[in-house]
Amino acid sequence: MEEEKKSLNFLEEIIEDDLKSGKVSSILTRFPPEPNGYLHLGHAKSLCINFGLAQKYGGKTNLRYDDTNPTKEDTEYVDAIKEDIKWLGFNWEKELYASDYFDQLYEWAEKMIIEGMAYVDDQSQEEISAGRGTVETPGKESPYRNRTPEENLRLFREMRDGKYADGEKVLRAKIDMASPNMMFRDPIMYRIKHASHHRTGDKWCIYPMYDYTHGQSDSIENITHSICTLEFDVHRPLYDWFIKVLDIYPSHQYEFARLNLTYTLMSKRKLLELVQKGIVAGWDDPRMPTLCGVRRRGYTPEAIKMFCDKIGVSKHEQLMDIQLLEWCVRQDLNARANRYMVVQDPVKLTITNWPEGKVEWFDCPLNPAEPEGASRKVPFCGELYIERADFMEDAPKKFFRLKPDGEVRLKYTYIIKCNQVVKDAEGQITELKCTYDPSTRPGAGEWRSVKGTIHWVSREHAKKITLRNYDRLFTLADMSQVPEDKDYKDFLNPDSLTLGCGFAEPALLEDNSGIAVQFERTGYYVKDADSTPAESIFNKTVSLKDSYKPE
Ligand code: ATP
Ligand code: MG
Repeated sequence: MEEEKKSLNFLEEIIEDDLKSGKVSSILTRFPPEPNGYLHLGHAKSLCINFGLAQKYGGKTNLRYDDTNPTKEDTEYVDAIKEDIKWLGFNWEKELYASDYFDQLYEWAEKMIIEGMAYVDDQSQEEISAGRGTVETPGKESPYRNRTPEENLRLFREMRDGKYADGEKVLRAKIDMASPNMMFRDPIMYRIKHASHHRTGDKWCIYPMYDYTHGQSDSIENITHSICTLEFDVHRPLYDWFIKVLDIYPSHQYEFARLNLTYTLMSKRKLLELVQKGIVAGWDDPRMPTLCGVRRRGYTPEAIKMFCDKIGVSKHEQLMDIQLLEWCVRQDLNARANRYMVVQDPVKLTITNWPEGKVEWFDCPLNPAEPEGASRKVPFCGELYIERADFMEDAPKKFFRLKPDGEVRLKYTYIIKCNQVVKDAEGQITELKCTYDPSTRPGAGEWRSVKGTIHWVSREHAKKITLRNYDRLFTLADMSQVPEDKDYKDFLNPDSLTLGCGFAEPALLEDNSGIAVQFERTGYYVKDADSTPAESIFNKTVSLKDSYKPE
């Protein structure tokens, strides 16, 4: 029993206890995005936790948009969020909106006013902030705090009816201006905002605050476990307080550590700035940590879920290594991605003893893990390209690729030997003249092995493709440590995107696997939607190898 408990995370322990004690009979979680931006990898962690727990314990998860801030929200985001959640493979029970509860919340506010638990305050935002006091000193009561319920009700209705300008009045809960918990020092429940809402239009000009909305929304839906990030732990007592005074279904809030990743920023406000200033090409720029960005980069839902599973659920803030995520992407793609040969920095290689005009088509597996599985046909002839870096004139002993008088196998085909190096007037190598050994054809006779195998393409058949090579967007590992006198934009990596080209075996352009492919010996790449019939564009997903090993 003890053993079993150990492997559970703290949320699973809570849920198992609640199910066992009968506190709840089934679990219902929710994912509550504010539709003011696109989902990012941090949200993926929250999604995996909320949907994952529900799945594990036979429960359900609602998708609830936390849409109480009309000036920043938009249906563009509402739609994109749904698309991203579906892409990750999660299905929500109900699609709901905090704005669905505006009438109910308003009714409860009137009830609190009548019962003397809320009042209309005429102080300015600055006066209210100053009056809150500090952790050491108690706050000061507002001069409007002791208005009668009748007066408060009349003023609140006038606020609702549009009689006042933004900021002229607010509705506050009447709790305790000396409370050691600053959250209890008469928190604001409603503010005036003459703005159109993406769903309720111009019906309202007062909007409820987060603290007055979130717990009640959970309660209305009978959410059993309301899971959010650590910074909300100071809000929990207030969450509980509103539920208690309104005497409604007792949802409970639990907090976990948010995901932070090296070389990555996940604040929606800053991501929006990158988009608006044109620093990236859009929310789905493959350098962005957004789900649409990493999707365009070629990351798979499986890899992201594997990553979330590996990092687990904890109560302590942590900076996770982006290399762990990249490792997960490699793990997943290594098992599934089709292989193709692409030469990026070509040097011409001529096979002098190859019969003039002959083309031999090799049947090569799409995935070496399944040698009997699907294959592609690769043309071989006397004029090829190999990678410039795969040849070295004055090669050290350990260099097992091509060198003068040395042998190497051209992947899937013959062993060749380099006999002559041709150079131009500047001394730049322009051609390698080689001979092939016909007896080394795989499957024909005895297998002869050489130390090195390199990739190649037939010059005549090669398709030129455009490459977008991506690197980290930022140069600082811990982006929470940007010095006071600097801006996060000072740490943008100027080389986060470099354009290149490649020469690909023809089958690449017919690939319809729908996921990233492996360019053998280099990395994983995915075809970009910007491709046209005339130009194929491939985004670099992740390089093939890294010294990184997860613990
Ligand atoms: P941001 O600060 O980037 O604007 P947010 O927390 O305001 O993010 P929401 O749309 O309110 O974004 O988040 C929806 C849910 O996702 C919340 O429950 C929130 O706690 C969770 N979430 C947001 N960022 C992270 C993160 N980095 N790691 C884990 N969960 C996160
Ligand atoms: Mg938020």
